[in-house]
Amino acid sequence: MSDQEAEAKSTEEALSVEDFIGWVEDTMADVESVDRSANMHWCAQWWAHPEAIKRLKALYVEWLERQAEGGMSSWWIDHFDRHASVLFAKNGPFGECGVSHVEKGMRRTLECQQPPTGWTW
Ligand SMILES: [Zn+2]
Repeated sequence: MSDQEAEAKSTEEALSVEDFIGWVEDTMADVESVDRSANMHWCAQWWAHPEAIKRLKALYVEWLERQAEGGMSSWWIDHFDRHASVLFAKNGPFGECGVSHVEKGMRRTLECQQPPTGWTW
């Protein structure tokens, strides 16, 4: 294992799942720039979607690095926007979820429910 790989592994081990859950909730609460008519698919039980967990975790790790080292503009453009185009798309991880969390006609918001006790990433 290279030093870089070892450093990345120790960084991941230091991450707290509770902090990650809070970050997802806070970040999704701020999302406004998604096309809600054509490209807005989300699931309050986001933690039940393996691809979404991996994408959100990758975004979180990158976000932590950008918070420490700067470069948040790049985080939005090069990371969030790229993942968002898949995460919220009809053919993305939430598009075929089949879970109806909002009543027809209501503004769809990015609600986050707490994962079950013992849920881990
Ligand atoms: Zn779902």
